[in-house]
Amino acid sequence: MKSLISMGPHHVEFGDWQEPRILPGQVLIEVAACGICGTDLHVYKGMPATWPVPGIRGHEFAGNVIAWADDVEGFQDGDRVVVQPLVYCGGCRFCRSGQSNLCANMVLIGGEQPGGFAERVAVPGSSLFKLPQNLSLKQAALIETLATSVHAFEQNLSGILRSAAVLGAGAQGIFAVQLARLAGAKLIAVSETLPHRLAMAQKLGATHVVNAGCEDAVEAILALTDGEGVDLVIEAAGKAVTRQGATQLLRPGGTAIFLALGAEPSPIDFMSLVPRELHLRGTQCYTDANFALAIELLANREIIVDPLITEMPLEAGAAAFEILATNPGEMIKVILEP
Ligand SMILES: [Zn+2]
Ligand SMILES: [Zn+2]
Repeated sequence: MKSLISMGPHHVEFGDWQEPRILPGQVLIEVAACGICGTDLHVYKGMPATWPVPGIRGHEFAGNVIAWADDVEGFQDGDRVVVQPLVYCGGCRFCRSGQSNLCANMVLIGGEQPGGFAERVAVPGSSLFKLPQNLSLKQAALIETLATSVHAFEQNLSGILRSAAVLGAGAQGIFAVQLARLAGAKLIAVSETLPHRLAMAQKLGATHVVNAGCEDAVEAILALTDGEGVDLVIEAAGKAVTRQGATQLLRPGGTAIFLALGAEPSPIDFMSLVPRELHLRGTQCYTDANFALAIELLANREIIVDPLITEMPLEAGAAAFEILATNPGEMIKVILEP
């Protein structure tokens, strides 16, 4: 079958790959749409990962059920499904305490296992969510991304949300803006260097936008709060400067949630953090409950996704990776379609 094969840093190739075998418990999906994630790009650019090379990436995908193992029940030919790509063990102490996103034995479909940058992929039946009729397969490819933002908001320790700053307006940042709006925040400030992304953030709920390439984002956002700082910062850029900015932007007792990966060492001023009782929190993926809520939010149009999407054929995947890694321009989320 045709696949987009990851060969190593800065090297993906469209070509032939072996057909998936359907193991016990598994369902065969014909992939309709698969998103390129920030994590895929980090690995493409050389971030160390335990993912095989050559291998098939792609963990943000939806498609149609076309076959299943004898021991699987509950599916019909043509069922429209989205894949929750974290295969967790269910038995470790994290899984058993409801934190399957922190599973000690986690395997990622589209990471350690072959993913959705292919015509077909076999996945555990337990990894599938059926889609409501009013959600297209293309829209469904963004559910995984939204679920990550939903989980990030669960890390907020600052109580009722009145003000938020979002640093970085990729797909995660723009979902964070929309979730902050849903949560009732009156002030939603966004910093970003790409003008198209700032415009998109504004269109989808940001009350203030700052081009961090032209002005000091921390100064500009603090000025909006008379210097006090905001309740919540979502750091969705993964750079040292935005991580430091996140702590500088908080009001005393505020929460900064670090969502983006990024290997750049990032010094934090603890003399500012300790006496102001700041909360600094990481956030990792999502649970099944977050995933289910993300489906509902998209299906109810409480979160808007269509303007973020650029569709490309899977065979153009190598070009898509290179463009996103170097100069994304007006692209925010690229969906590859086999
Ligand atoms: Zn992802
Ligand atoms: Zn586990």
